[in-house]
Amino acid sequence: MTLRYVLPVADDLHRETAVAALWGAGADGLWERPHEVVAYFDAAVDLTAGPAGGGRWEEEPDRDWLAEWKAGLEPVTVGRLTVAPSWTVSGPDAATVVIDPGMAFGTGHHATTRRCLAALDRLDLTGRSLLDVGTGSGVLAVAAARLGAVRVVAVDVDPEAVRVARENASRNGVEVDVRHGSVEAVPAERCDVTVANIATAAIVSLADALLAACGETLIVSGIAAERADQVTTVLGDRGARVTRVDEEDGWVAITADAVSGDAGSQPPLPT
Ligand code: SAH
Repeated sequence: MTLRYVLPVADDLHRETAVAALWGAGADGLWERPHEVVAYFDAAVDLTAGPAGGGRWEEEPDRDWLAEWKAGLEPVTVGRLTVAPSWTVSGPDAATVVIDPGMAFGTGHHATTRRCLAALDRLDLTGRSLLDVGTGSGVLAVAAARLGAVRVVAVDVDPEAVRVARENASRNGVEVDVRHGSVEAVPAERCDVTVANIATAAIVSLADALLAACGETLIVSGIAAERADQVTTVLGDRGARVTRVDEEDGWVAITADAVSGDAGSQPPLPT
């Protein structure tokens, strides 16, 4: 029997502190839904005090979640591209991003990934360079290469994501320069487009670095709708011009022109 703990979350800050508390309490897995967090445990733990208090315990029979999840994953089409789990297709083609997510995030099923894919699809990436911050499975980086980007750099703080993203790039026959770290891992490089599907707090704290790494267009996501204003303000304060805010399932992706005083002062990327 598996136990799950369902915790309604009031806002993004509550979500972040609760998620940290649930991992800290030994959760085996977390499922982040728009207004609640579901945590899976082997055995009940006392969560009454602290930010994870106030949820309810539920029991559910043991199931092979991974097998069921994999079997249920359908290809997802956004704009010109379809993201397909590797076990559903025989091989890559120009309109398909083939992904085996392993333990990394990014199958194309999460609203934030889909909104980033849509934002990339709206740009003309032909001949452009792109930086993907928080690449996870590499889904956005591979998609950018499919959409015509000639130089794609991807970073992730999670070494497992770095490994998975490299595998997915080669699975698709595209070149992605995958590096371990965050935006500081590419300090000297200014890409035409930067995409970052990471948590709101990370976007806010990395705003300067994201804009400094970005020559033209910045796409940020992973933002709960109620915190969209905070991010648009932070970007606006730094001279960026927000051109689009897309919402899906309570999540937003924000596209901005990364206008800044020293734009273009760094050399172009090596090819
Ligand atoms: N880009 C994928 C995955 C998003 S999940 C998609 O859109 O589906 C977010 C990823 O960002 C995770 O793999 C996580 O390890 C990574 N991450 C979180 N904070 C980061 C940071 N500050 N710098 C770089 N990567 C970060």
